[in-house]
Amino acid sequence: MIEQTLSNNHPELREAVRALCAQFPQEYFRRIDEQRAYPAEFVDALTQAGWLAALIPTEYGGSGLGLAEASVIMEEINRCGGNAGACHGQMYNMGTLLRHGSQAQKERFLPRIASGEWRLQSMAVTEPSTGTDTTKIKTSAVKRDGRWVVNGQKVWISRVQHSDWMILLARTTPLAEVKKKSEGMSIFMVDLAEAQKKGLSVRPIPNMVNHETNELFFEDLEIPEENLIGQEGQGFKYILDGLNAERTLIAAECIGDGYWFIDRVTDYARERQVFGRPIGQNQGVQFPIAEAFIEVEAANLMRWKACELFDAHAPMGAQANMAKYLAAKASWEAANACLQFHGGFGFACEYDVERKFRETRLYQVAPISTNLIFSYVAEHILGLPRSF
Ligand SMILES: Cc1cc2nc3c(=O)[nH]c(=O)nc-3n(C[C@H](O)[C@H](O)[C@H](O)COP(=O)(O)OP(=O)(O)OC[C@H]3O[C@@H](n4cnc5c(N)ncnc54)[C@H](O)[C@@H]3O)c2cc1C
Repeated sequence: MIEQTLSNNHPELREAVRALCAQFPQEYFRRIDEQRAYPAEFVDALTQAGWLAALIPTEYGGSGLGLAEASVIMEEINRCGGNAGACHGQMYNMGTLLRHGSQAQKERFLPRIASGEWRLQSMAVTEPSTGTDTTKIKTSAVKRDGRWVVNGQKVWISRVQHSDWMILLARTTPLAEVKKKSEGMSIFMVDLAEAQKKGLSVRPIPNMVNHETNELFFEDLEIPEENLIGQEGQGFKYILDGLNAERTLIAAECIGDGYWFIDRVTDYARERQVFGRPIGQNQGVQFPIAEAFIEVEAANLMRWKACELFDAHAPMGAQANMAKYLAAKASWEAANACLQFHGGFGFACEYDVERKFRETRLYQVAPISTNLIFSYVAEHILGLPRSF
């Protein structure tokens, strides 16, 4: 493993996470990928060790750590060859409850999420006909006889089959009746086992990565009134509040991927002999690897900046978005170099390169696509005219 990187802080935390990950070697993740299965034993071990409760305050049974430490946990999972995407939702989805839930909701949910008794790994925002244009969502929740009745459809909703609860964004006031398009949406806690008995159908979407994700159909799904989080009509703002932590943690996962690819390709380039010398002696091989390493290090600087601001409760939307953009791009460049310089072996499943290559590619599209980050920076940081 490369020693001189910007990821050499929090040594005890890194060592502890690495020790846990060592029980789940590459073969484990390869087999799970081949079987399109869920890494249940790995996620259970992480939960039991308390790592997924890093951001939950101690009074609710969590570890009360900062985003910097939480990001180290996610980074190390990916740096060890795993895929934190299987469980990262459990770490950050609860932030919405923590910031906007009532005291009763926090006391009911957070200790159970911290212990792993309840999994809150899913958040349902995206819809098939509206895509990134979230304020146009059509899923509605209407209050009737003391309950909310939900109708509509969602797409790409991850980890539903490995969650007990899901956060749902739905329109509670029609778009035509609100002053600002970002108003009139609300968020709810959905009990997934109960919902699937009456009103919610789940259809898995086979996809490029072993990432459990689904289409959801709501037909007169009834949700108890007390499952509304925060104020009615303010849900979009609440969801946005949580995205900065999510983006920063995913940036850390990409950075973990980036180091994994660079470790792998430098080892391989030192050992692989062609034309009577190691391929890594050729500058044509060295330069793309060196370039990818520089980009991962640069992305890491922005990730630490984002964590520092978040942990100081300072505004950090720009840094979270920029960290996610830089890290997803850097890990993809590292993935390309790693695949390229493994030659044909890069395509062999037993090297794990093709699996990690697929996994890291996702992060230029989800949870927010690169173009939408450019758009955010152009409008909100550079003050350019709003384009949509
Ligand atoms: C594996 C996976 C898991 C996911 N998990 C979840 C989940 O758990 N919960 C959830 O709610 N969502 C989830 N998503 C959805 C994800 O957040 C969206 O796919 C992503 O935000 C892009 O939205 P879209 O697919 O609707 O693309 P669209 O909005 O249709 O956009 C398509 C392309 O056009 C570009 N584009 C669109 N508008 C503009 C513009 N104005 N200017 C420039 N370019 C533009 C986009 O950048 C994008 O590249 C997941 C997606 C995947 C693939």
